[in-house]
Amino acid sequence: MASVLSCTSCGRTSSNSEDYNHLSLDISPEGTLQDCLALNFKSCVVDFRCPNCDGLQASRREQFHTLPRVLVLHLKRFRHRRWGVQKLKRSLLIPPKLSLSTLCGDDVPPLHSVIPEEQAFTNLDKLAALKERLGSMEQEQTVLKYSMGTMGQKLGAVEIKLQASESEVEMMKTVNTAQEKELYSLKERLSVAQPKIAFSVALSDSFNGHTGPFSIDTPLKYLRVFSNSGSGYNPATGIFTAMVRGMYCFRYTMYSNNSGRPNSVLYLMKNNELLVTTWNTANRMDVTDSSSNGVIVQLEVGDNVYLRLGASRLVYDDSNHHNTFSGFLLFTV
Ligand SMILES: [Zn+2]
Repeated sequence: MASVLSCTSCGRTSSNSEDYNHLSLDISPEGTLQDCLALNFKSCVVDFRCPNCDGLQASRREQFHTLPRVLVLHLKRFRHRRWGVQKLKRSLLIPPKLSLSTLCGDDVPPLHSVIPEEQAFTNLDKLAALKERLGSMEQEQTVLKYSMGTMGQKLGAVEIKLQASESEVEMMKTVNTAQEKELYSLKERLSVAQPKIAFSVALSDSFNGHTGPFSIDTPLKYLRVFSNSGSGYNPATGIFTAMVRGMYCFRYTMYSNNSGRPNSVLYLMKNNELLVTTWNTANRMDVTDSSSNGVIVQLEVGDNVYLRLGASRLVYDDSNHHNTFSGFLLFTV
């Protein structure tokens, strides 16, 4: 609070200030707090010795040089009389806002300046808008919390499904591994149980010419051996011997070049049983003929299969291998 003295003669002013935030106010006749403030700050003439013009009076007025954050107002409701103390019972109107703009000095900093009424209302509007915005943000936050909770539940469900899928994949891997082992075992057993038996031979190893005729039926010895897996065929005798019981396939070809000679006849034999046969008959049209035959037959262990040339018959062969004999195991039984 500043106390300003103005010389009534020369107008020289001086002031001194003191910091406090409470005022004791006389109750004004108008009956409002605003008027009480105005009365307290009303200038008055006081005795004063002017150092400038030796004047004897000055005008003194009080004013704010800074505004306190909290201003305490004390109302003087008691008045001293010669006969005692009198209480002033007049009612006093206290407005919702007090204007201090006329009570401030020129040196009141802007930070402590009184907010003009229009600006105050504008600030109130801004504050209301901020409150509304804050309320809206709180609602948005509530919605976001709910959404996050829902998303968390969905994520948890997805994680459960993923774990179930992973377990299923692991189980399928285990089953697959077991099936692979079983398949490998079956292959092993099949490989052991299924002997590899196959042969293919031709009659002529190096000679060119006829074989026969003989006076009796004679097994043919096929000398050229192309293959003989399992060694079931014996080139020394021309006989195939079954080492395992099973179903076998046999084929053979017969070639004749018998101009002016006897016919060609071959019998495919199983032991002493004739299975199939081929015949070539000479005529005047040509002298060379080829024929073939084959059979699928079940053999027991030790059964023999071979080709027998008929008595008084013959076949022709050379390095072209016209006469062949082949056989192989289809499957065991
Ligand atoms: Zn003066």
